[in-house]
Amino acid sequence: MRKITPTIATERIYKAEKEKDLPISSYFGEETFSQKVMKEKLPKSIYERLMENIDKGKKLDIETANAVAHAMKEWALENGATHFAHWFQPMTGATAEKHDAFIEISGPGEVMERFTGEQLVQGEPDASSFPSGGLRATFEARGYTAWDMSSPAFLRKNGIGTTLCIPSVFISYNGEALDKKTPLLRSIRAVNDSALRLLKLLSNRKSKKVISNVGPEQEYFCIDMDYFYKRQDLVLTGRTILGAPPAKGQELEDQYFGSIKQRMQSFMHDVEEDLYKLGIPAKTRHNEVAPSQFEIAPIFEEANIGVDHNLLVMDKLQQVARQHNLAVLLHEKPFAGINGSGKHLNWSLTTDDGINLFKPGKTPHDNIQFLAFLLATMKAVHRHADLLRASVGSAANDHRLGANEAPPAIISIFLGDQLTKILECIEKGIANDVTDKTIIDLGISSLPVVSRDNSDRNRTSPFAFTGNKFEFRAVGSSQNISFPATVINTIVAESIDELADMIEKRGAGNIKQTVIDIIKEELPKVKSVLFMGDNYAEEWHKEAKRRGLPDLKTTPEALRALETKKAQTLFEKYKVLSPLELKSRHTIWLEKFCKDIEIEARTMFSIISSQVIPAAVKYQKELAESISGTEKVLGTAADLSAQKSLLKRITELINGVSTALAMLKSKLEKRNGIDDHQKLADYFSNEVKTAMDEIRKQVDELELHIADDMWPMPKFWEMLFVN
Ligand code: ADP
Ligand code: MG
Repeated sequence: MRKITPTIATERIYKAEKEKDLPISSYFGEETFSQKVMKEKLPKSIYERLMENIDKGKKLDIETANAVAHAMKEWALENGATHFAHWFQPMTGATAEKHDAFIEISGPGEVMERFTGEQLVQGEPDASSFPSGGLRATFEARGYTAWDMSSPAFLRKNGIGTTLCIPSVFISYNGEALDKKTPLLRSIRAVNDSALRLLKLLSNRKSKKVISNVGPEQEYFCIDMDYFYKRQDLVLTGRTILGAPPAKGQELEDQYFGSIKQRMQSFMHDVEEDLYKLGIPAKTRHNEVAPSQFEIAPIFEEANIGVDHNLLVMDKLQQVARQHNLAVLLHEKPFAGINGSGKHLNWSLTTDDGINLFKPGKTPHDNIQFLAFLLATMKAVHRHADLLRASVGSAANDHRLGANEAPPAIISIFLGDQLTKILECIEKGIANDVTDKTIIDLGISSLPVVSRDNSDRNRTSPFAFTGNKFEFRAVGSSQNISFPATVINTIVAESIDELADMIEKRGAGNIKQTVIDIIKEELPKVKSVLFMGDNYAEEWHKEAKRRGLPDLKTTPEALRALETKKAQTLFEKYKVLSPLELKSRHTIWLEKFCKDIEIEARTMFSIISSQVIPAAVKYQKELAESISGTEKVLGTAADLSAQKSLLKRITELINGVSTALAMLKSKLEKRNGIDDHQKLADYFSNEVKTAMDEIRKQVDELELHIADDMWPMPKFWEMLFVN
């Protein structure tokens, strides 16, 4: 394989040096139909009605919708848009959109630009090809998309042409959610209702709304585009299915937070500029642990908007990379043996009047409130650890979870020493008689209870309390964070309600005493989910087993959590997912898991039979000819043992790979006999994946033996270090 010289976009770098950047604030959000634009463009009464509807989550009347649509169209046309699209989140893949031009026939051979309230509010994509998991038969395939007013419309510029994108939900005609946004919106409402109820009991009557926030830290790999296109596996599956580890990996730890190279810096700059225009508050950028691995993190936002923005971040990363002749890999494990990519999902609850419910406060009262919400979250994670695990399940993430670089599949909570001690004190009954004085003695009277440094030290925990938020670290880099966020919101809503029930049962009185009493009673039941140690350690697996915590290593195992009565009751009670909607997700994600592995297996088959074996045979021939040629010249006395043993090993490996490949093929054929989704997914996970691992070992050995110029695809060292 010929080495390439990285094609650095020198022109771009030069330009960036010459031209000064504008302050971000001067153009932030200019490609969104933001509240500011709406205020400018809409009649006052319409604007107010729209804001009220957004706030209350109410439907728009047609008069308002028409006025908004008109203003939106005018704004979009001013900004060069020719088309509009309802932009939504199907159950698999990232986002979907179908474009329509803003035109209507206005006379013979003439058109005019038009966009109605109806078109804004509701769209009808031909949805028959989206997976519905049995929610609707194909003959009644038409679902519809509906504008989610709480997320601003934006301009999508991609190549030539600009499209007005309208963030939307996607629903069947019976009202069933066919997407990932609808359940998220429902869960946001659920946790708002429950949290407000608890706040009232804790005598907060001021807050009117509780908001769930997300701050996703997006990790990704970025390699030269030329390498990307030379690897069928990267193009088709997003990861390298074959490849021997490079001589240098990440052991020097010289990449993490290292100075960002010029080419990457220019790329990141362009990504961020585009994100700012879309109103996405990208804040942090840095090198990650593995070579050619990076991270981008925004300032956190309301869950609904934060999710949309993360989807746009993933999209932009890939789009802008092309302009720099780079390829962004969002896959959870693009290179075996090298750290994979995750997406820490930072989550918190705040009120409309600025209270963070996970922030220990300055007064005993604040801290009682903090402890109540903390307990609720612990209860939720303890009860639904399996659901959390299921929410991050995918064929790709299975390569990462538990691979000593990412949290294990065991979901536990890290609280930090100080908080743990405080809870222990409460449990032991030191705070039997609760007065403000005892609260002060407990060390929970004022801040900071947990300093960030202290809580952040344990990076191995899958669900860590980090000062004023929780950080769910098992989420995969390529995932839509919608469902993980939906699960967290819903399970916490349930626990908050339980806590509220308990408080109500005990009646009014000393609320602080009541909360402390409840913590004392509840803590022993849930504290098995707390773990402050090293989550990567082998002993933790044994310990977790002793504690009865689920350790669901594979996605098919984990997805079983969606079938349980417990999950059904939870989602139904909070009207987040009906049993049918839940079941459809179970089916779709099992199917997706199987398809992902099947595609990988077929890709592996194709690469090996059409690239690897031919290269090996060629080298085998070269060696054989060299041996016989040398013998001819030097006679049989010549010592050819090294070449001979190499030839022998290569011949063995060619045979070994071919046999294993035949085995893989027959395993793939046997899938046809398995009808049940769950059984099929188990089969792919246990049988097909193991067969692939077996083949890989031998191919990776071949890679080390065969002449470099004959190896038919870029190697790890090139992809990871030539940039
Ligand atoms: P780390 O050390 O894990 O990189 P950062 O402080 O950089 O942590 O924060 C990571 C992410 O967490 C950012 O996206 C940030 O906006 C987000 N974040 C901070 N506070 C909150 C909060 N209260 N709720 C949700 N996300 C938050
Ligand atoms: Mg983090």
